[in-house]
Amino acid sequence: MSDHAIELQGLRKTYAASGNDGPKEALKGVDLAIPRGSIFGLLGPNGAGKSTLINILAGLVTKTAGRVTIWGFDQDVNPRQSRAAIGVMPQELNLDPFFTPRGALEVQAGLYGVPKAQRRTEEILRLIGLEDKAEAYARSLSGGMRRRLLLGKALVHHPQILVLDEPTAGVDIELRQMLWANVRQLNAEGMTIILTTHYLEEAQEMCDEIAIINHGAVVVRDRTENLLARLDAKTLVIVPDEPAGPVTVPEGVECATRPDGALVFSYHRSQVTADAILEAVRAAGITIRDVATEEADLEDVFVALTSTKAA
Ligand code: ADP
Ligand code: MG
Repeated sequence: MSDHAIELQGLRKTYAASGNDGPKEALKGVDLAIPRGSIFGLLGPNGAGKSTLINILAGLVTKTAGRVTIWGFDQDVNPRQSRAAIGVMPQELNLDPFFTPRGALEVQAGLYGVPKAQRRTEEILRLIGLEDKAEAYARSLSGGMRRRLLLGKALVHHPQILVLDEPTAGVDIELRQMLWANVRQLNAEGMTIILTTHYLEEAQEMCDEIAIINHGAVVVRDRTENLLARLDAKTLVIVPDEPAGPVTVPEGVECATRPDGALVFSYHRSQVTADAILEAVRAAGITIRDVATEEADLEDVFVALTSTKAA
């Protein structure tokens, strides 16, 4: 039995031409294995193919080629089992305005064939904080409440995998925190979480592993901490007590003076230690008033990997 939640092999999607637009190759052969139990982040700029990938998993978009295995079930061979293993919170708000939250959850459970005795409608209403609105029409709910209801709908059939497509795009801080608390709780209970976000800080904080996708291809996939370690460029900023003269720096270090007089040293921590730089500064007779270092964050990794032009 595969120990992956999701396995993609050579996944391709070409959208057919329509109107003035020619055919669009949205996924160009994606290979990706997502471990069970993880919080996995799918990152990429707009148009990279994230929603296409997720909508293929959800069974909403038909793939052009490749193999999709969900919780060990090939989507083409065992469509029912593979569908049962996954719940998807889509990027678009697509709710029937005439349903109440309780009604929407019941209908969704019915669609997935969950017997009445096994439904967890009340538990889900509590989780998403909509007990008080259980009988309100969806059209009377705020945008945040509708999003929470979409999360609830993704959970009705007790899936092993929860997929969230840009769950926090354009939502307020309070809702964002609530969604992340929900996600962390579900993950702690054993659910595998896959999410897309373009808030890099959020991915850095939430995800165990990350794949960056650009122009329909995975450009990198690694544990979050490894990804951050890849960029070993560092910056050391030294504020001297008095305007400083030239500093003889170790090989491989670049030094610039900022307009405010601060000295900015750029180096690679695999080649040079901060100590060696401080030593050089002191040797130049400079008294140090303040020191700060800057490390690469996910944003730098992202920019470095996605700044290439379209193929
Ligand atoms: P992302 O979610 O990363 O922003 P998408 O998967 O939505 O990216 O889109 C990937 C590419 O496929 C984009 O160029 C987009 O314009 C195109 N695309 C998405 N959906 C369709 C569609 N239904 N028909 C044609 N092109 C589409
Ligand atoms: Mg999208």
